[in-house]
Amino acid sequence: MTVRVYIGLGSNLEDPVAQVLEAVEELEMIPDSIMVSRSSLYRGKPMGPADQPDYVNAVVAMDTLLSAANFLQELTRIEDLQGRARDGEKWGPRIIDLDLLMYGKQKINTPDLTVPHPGMHERDFVIIPLSELAGDVNVPGQGRLTSLINKCENHSLRKLVTA
Ligand code: AMP
Repeated sequence: MTVRVYIGLGSNLEDPVAQVLEAVEELEMIPDSIMVSRSSLYRGKPMGPADQPDYVNAVVAMDTLLSAANFLQELTRIEDLQGRARDGEKWGPRIIDLDLLMYGKQKINTPDLTVPHPGMHERDFVIIPLSELAGDVNVPGQGRLTSLINKCENHSLRKLVTA
């Protein structure tokens, strides 16, 4: 049985739109998995340190046969492939960031993986693109997406027009 997963993508270095689109292409090649849909791309102000470029964010939906741990390994592999440095400050600038937002209806808490991704419910750059793909999905432990949107302040997010 496949599991529906949602992945959050973000970049604010080295042509962020191209980085996000490249990551989408890499995600399409994850074994035993199929891409279901991709949100629009959005541009927004950084969370955390403000002295860094704006971010480009998107969310994709996939169906996978992989375990959550193996799926996370694939995300890390793609981040490494795109040259993601791992020594930067928390919330500092990054070439690509891939987060496993949801893994079916599961709640997961291991040393390496927390799902749903903590904090996703209050981040406009996650919730708004996710709502393009997931309707009124229940985010385990966090509530229905429509109520999360109502609570989530949209400070700066702008939809990008891409080909
Ligand atoms: P980040 O700086 O956001 O890329 O953090 C990456 C680290 O967060 C990885 O080493 C993961 O083990 C850990 N992590 C915990 N939960 C998640 C999640 N839901 N998605 C992605 N990374 C996660």
